[in-house]
Amino acid sequence: MAEHSHDAAGPGLDFDIMLTGLTILGLAVALLDRFVQPLPAVWPQVGLGLAFLAGGGPAGISALRELFGRGRLDIDLLMVIAAVAAAAVGAALEGAVLLALFSLSGTLEHRAMGKARRAVEALMALRPDTALRLRADGSTEEVQVAVLAVGDRLVLRPGARVPVDGRVIEGTGSVDESTITGESLPVHKDPGDNLHEATVNLHGVLYMQVMRSLAESTVARMIALVTEAQAMKAPSERFSEWFGARYTVAVLVGSVVVFAVFYGLIGYDLQHALYHAATLLVAASPCAVVISVPAAILSALSSAARGGVLFKGGAALEMLAEVRAFAFDKTGTLTSGRAEVTQVVVLDGIAEDDMLALLAGIEAHSEHHIAGAVLRQALRQGVSPVAVGAVKAWPSEGITGEDALGPVWAGNERMVARMGADRAHPGLATLHGGAQTVVHLGRGAQLLGAVAVADTPRQTAAAGIAALRAAGVQEVVMMTGDRREVAMRIGAELGIRDSEIHAGLLPADKVKLVDDLAAKGRVAFVGDGVNDAAALARADVGIAMGAAGSEVALQAAEVALLSEDMQRLALAHRLARRTARIIKQNLIFSIGAMVVLVIAGLFFALPLPLAVIGHEGGTLLVVLNGLRLLRDPIRVI
Ligand code: ADP
Ligand code: MG
Repeated sequence: MAEHSHDAAGPGLDFDIMLTGLTILGLAVALLDRFVQPLPAVWPQVGLGLAFLAGGGPAGISALRELFGRGRLDIDLLMVIAAVAAAAVGAALEGAVLLALFSLSGTLEHRAMGKARRAVEALMALRPDTALRLRADGSTEEVQVAVLAVGDRLVLRPGARVPVDGRVIEGTGSVDESTITGESLPVHKDPGDNLHEATVNLHGVLYMQVMRSLAESTVARMIALVTEAQAMKAPSERFSEWFGARYTVAVLVGSVVVFAVFYGLIGYDLQHALYHAATLLVAASPCAVVISVPAAILSALSSAARGGVLFKGGAALEMLAEVRAFAFDKTGTLTSGRAEVTQVVVLDGIAEDDMLALLAGIEAHSEHHIAGAVLRQALRQGVSPVAVGAVKAWPSEGITGEDALGPVWAGNERMVARMGADRAHPGLATLHGGAQTVVHLGRGAQLLGAVAVADTPRQTAAAGIAALRAAGVQEVVMMTGDRREVAMRIGAELGIRDSEIHAGLLPADKVKLVDDLAAKGRVAFVGDGVNDAAALARADVGIAMGAAGSEVALQAAEVALLSEDMQRLALAHRLARRTARIIKQNLIFSIGAMVVLVIAGLFFALPLPLAVIGHEGGTLLVVLNGLRLLRDPIRVI
């Protein structure tokens, strides 16, 4: 019966509740007349009529519309036919009981499923309407959030919600990001740090620059992801729908055959044969089978979303349950968003501030997480970035552009080689000997200097990886475009063995390695960068660092981790496995119950009311079993 009740949520629910109320009222009048106190002539008929109209009317009409409009046989039609058949043989009261229970369980399902899908819509309510924008003269004006453009500067007073995604340009403070990431601890913000829409500035005054318009900010992206998720069906969901559609026809035909056999061959009278056929219609209809999968999947998706893990569809959830190998990108995924510049080396007589100003000028255009470290360093030293244009990013290498004097570039040793600069410059020996990420700066073939960036593991990464291994994930590997020395240092801190580390990779190398893993079983790839997009798309489950990662990665992935907490990845994996288990339980139970009811109906003269109770009760049980997943928290307490 879920066919249309889970297509629409919200406003339809009130109508459903009203119809169910009327049906039960009608039934109550009829029951009163039969069992308690006979009522005057027309009353029982009015009661039964009301129960039939309110309980079966709308469902019957929409099922008929479905049948003649789209040529699809709706399961609801079986219920209505059974009730009408019961009435036709003088068992109208049983028919009314059937419709009342049918209507009641439909409304309860509708309510439960609506609850599962409203988790993200609640975010809409957290968007502020207006923002305080800074004018050029330093004064402020209050403007509608919708008109904010990239580059606008805003003031966030204590307690203000961040209106769009942006970056802190002045001031420090802490921000409550729980609405987006599910993280309950406030996050410290310095100049250069990112701010997500709908989070709350707690104490200080922050000045921010707008990085994304309202339509492209976090909440809009989350809503888009979830809408996409609801449109994409999981394989088992497709199975149960396919099954429901085929099977409904079979049930209808089967009931007609049973009627013919009982009436024609066995010699029942017309009434008994019809009653029997109606009972079978109810016993055999597959409502529970059809609802068992979406009930579990919607609940799990919603539970995950509340913990900051967004699945683009049930398919990703089912796939995640089967993953045997997890591949992690290093920079920005296993390592934190707060990389810091630890050393600056200048070559050939250029001043340190000038070198940093130029480097910051190029990196200001990069989404890479190293870029944030460089910008923060420049701000800290009071250096303002030089204007650089014609910027082009080279994934896993660096970035190139042009300033007033001509072409400039920044990147790793591969970029140095590409530009024909001196890779073995003696001034850089100390940097290259260490285990830190090195970003070189150059103009043409001339190397100007380099900075070392200390990339540190996320606090939760070690625990997250350990939890995945403990859950039976067979392989965990690291794939990075960075140097092997850095990768091994990070790996050692996270419990990833040297043999599990692949360094110095280009985007295509990551894809190749994912393919190698895929030969042995399902693979999940977790990444954040533009350079990870291909691997994310290739893996069975692509998981992007949602809030901290790049847009491209988010597009390519099936799952977004809005929280930076790696333990939630392990919890999401556990949730996926529980969901798979519950779906299996539901399918076994609902198919089993149906078989029992049909056998009882065929051979043991099962009374219609019992068939109804068995059928609707079974349907409600699978829905409730699925809803248990709503209470599976991904949130780490
Ligand atoms: P990972 O695969 O670990 O995420 P990336 O492939 O993104 O790492 O980056 C690999 C290396 O490429 C970095 O360690 C850095 O040396 C260089 N690189 C990438 N992007 C930039 C950039 N915007 N500026 C400077 N260097 C960069
Ligand atoms: Mg990365």
